[in-house]
Amino acid sequence: MKKILSTLFILSMITLSYAQKTQIVAHRGAWKNTEVPQNSIAALEEAIKGKYWGSEFDVCLTKDDVLIVNHDNDFNGVDVATTDYKTLSQQKLSNGEKLPTAEEYMRVGIKQKKTKMVYEIKSSKLGLERTLKAAELSYNLVRDLKALNQTVFIAFSYDACLHLRKLDKKVKIQYLGSDKTPQELFNNGIYGIDFNFKVFKNNPSYIKEAKSKKMEINVWTVNDKESMEYFINEKVDFITTDEPELLKQILTK
Ligand code: MG
Repeated sequence: MKKILSTLFILSMITLSYAQKTQIVAHRGAWKNTEVPQNSIAALEEAIKGKYWGSEFDVCLTKDDVLIVNHDNDFNGVDVATTDYKTLSQQKLSNGEKLPTAEEYMRVGIKQKKTKMVYEIKSSKLGLERTLKAAELSYNLVRDLKALNQTVFIAFSYDACLHLRKLDKKVKIQYLGSDKTPQELFNNGIYGIDFNFKVFKNNPSYIKEAKSKKMEINVWTVNDKESMEYFINEKVDFITTDEPELLKQILTK
C-alpha cells in the first residue's frame, strides 16, 4: 500500500510539474546563435542537441507534389509552387546543404524521441486546393513514417487544420491564425492554439478560455526576455522562439 501511495505521489508530481512548465519550441530550428541557416537539417540537429521540447519547420509543396522545407514562396528567387522538385533540388542552403525535403527532414528528426517535430504546413499561393493537397500529403508522410506521436501540425490555413482533423481524430493540430477564438476552434475539433504574442496581449481572456478547455497553448515568436517572462507567468504550454538558448536560461533559473 505504502509503495502504491508513494508511486502515485511521484506520478502526480511529475504530471504537475509537466503541466506547469512552459516548453521551448525552436522556431525554424536552432539557427540564430548557432549560425546555421533557418529550416536547415543543421538547425534541426542543433535543436535536438539543445534538448528543446520541439523544433519548428516550414513545409511547401512543389509543382510536382514534393514537400520541401522552406519558409517563403520562393527559394533564392525560384518559385516553389510552380517549379518541379528536380530543379529546386539543385538549390543549396548557405551551409552547403541541399534544400531538404520534408521526408529527409522528418527522418533526421525522428531518429530521436525527445525533441518533437513542429510541422508547419504553408498555404500555397496557388489556392486552397494545393494547400489541402499539402496537408494531406504531409499527414500521409508522417503517418507512414510512424511519427504521428512525435509531430504537431501547425497551419495558418483553417481549412488545412479542419482537413487534418477529418483525416485523423487524434493528431495534434495548432492553429496559427488570428481570426478564430479558442472556443470556436475547440468547437470544430482544433484543440491547440499557436497565436502571435500580440493576439494574446490584445485578447487577455484567450489564455484562460483555452486553459478551461484543456487546449494546448503555444505563442510565437517571442524573442525578448520580458515577453518570455510574461508568457511563462501566464503558464502557456509552449513558447516558440528564435532565442531558445535565452528561454532555456530563464526557465532553468
Ligand atoms: Mg513557421
